[in-house]
Amino acid sequence: MSTNLSDHTTFKVGGPASEFFVAKDEDEAIRLVSEADQKKLPVLILGGGSNILVTDSGFPGRVIKMEITGDIRAVDSCSGGMITIGAGRDWDDFVDECVRKGFVGVESLSGIPGTVGAAPIQNIGAYGHDLSEATARVRAFDRVAKEIVTFSQSECGYSYRSSRFKENSERYLILDVTFQMKQGELSLPILYPELAEALDVEEEERAPLGRVREAVLAIRGRKGMVIDPNDLDTNSAGSFFTNPIVAQSQVPDGATSWPSGDGRFKISAAWLMENAGISKGMKLANARISSKHVLALTNPGEASASEIKALADLCTEKVRGKFGIELEREVRLVGFAQ
Ligand SMILES: Cc1cc2nc3c(=O)[nH]c(=O)nc-3n(C[C@H](O)[C@H](O)[C@H](O)COP(=O)(O)OP(=O)(O)OC[C@H]3O[C@@H](n4cnc5c(N)ncnc54)[C@H](O)[C@@H]3O)c2cc1C
Repeated sequence: MSTNLSDHTTFKVGGPASEFFVAKDEDEAIRLVSEADQKKLPVLILGGGSNILVTDSGFPGRVIKMEITGDIRAVDSCSGGMITIGAGRDWDDFVDECVRKGFVGVESLSGIPGTVGAAPIQNIGAYGHDLSEATARVRAFDRVAKEIVTFSQSECGYSYRSSRFKENSERYLILDVTFQMKQGELSLPILYPELAEALDVEEEERAPLGRVREAVLAIRGRKGMVIDPNDLDTNSAGSFFTNPIVAQSQVPDGATSWPSGDGRFKISAAWLMENAGISKGMKLANARISSKHVLALTNPGEASASEIKALADLCTEKVRGKFGIELEREVRLVGFAQ
């Protein structure tokens, strides 16, 4: 297997790792991470590589690619379906299985690349729903205490694109995730106008699970948000920035914004970028803004990691210069001075 990280990331950039291991089971993953910690080797835990940008010089340490899988098992229908899935299972494959078997709660997260184990890290979300709504607990190896720990939903510290796992990124190796989902035919309420329109339902109404998945995949496909080897716009990490949360007084006139629930407002990062002079298809050296979605920075073929980083910095500077608002990266940078 190639140790070049460009072969393991959706940006298709990143130099070689000094060591590259694949963990197929929990004991192997714990052994690999403990051994590296003991040797004080830097560790990069890797899922599908769809939310990281690794430097061109690579990773000077041990990469552990998580391939602990698992099907829907341990279903206890009395409690509405407790389903435990290994960290390395492909996320969208799991969503597909839930929809086919009639488990409700993750259908609007269809088409998000990556693994089940990485999903709690940034509390993946789309179309008004996020992972936190469907999870009951996360089991992880604590690299500081050197023991396996289980966090209930409320202990995971979920918030908008974050969690305790993201805040302590060097501490936890996620082993599996337990979901609590009801069985049924209808989805969670549809909260996103474009999705409601595609399904021909009112917002807050429910729709058949399979139709929701199909509609989400179709919308995402049009935006270059489903990995497609024939679509260079999908050589990306999805949205590069999160939507900034600011005081009402800081919301620019005319900006697309929503109450964030804590008295502040979430502003569309896409709106900020477009109104600061960043446009779809814009290039800097070989890196390019997606032709379909301004928030996605892409590698249309020849871009290096440093060129993608330079384009990200340009976006941040333009938004800061025009609006005095700091864009925060959703993507984790690996090996950059920041
Ligand atoms: C086309 C596209 C569309 C996307 N759309 C969305 C979207 O709609 N919503 C959304 O929220 N995200 C989206 N993303 C981002 C990305 O898919 C998610 O963040 C996903 O959860 C990353 O999973 P991964 O396995 O690829 O993680 P990786 O990129 O491999 O890793 C991400 C981080 O998690 C850590 N990590 C991975 N596995 C583990 C583990 N088992 N234990 C501990 N740490 C771990 C890594 O060290 C790294 O810090 C999109 C990305 C792309 C490319």
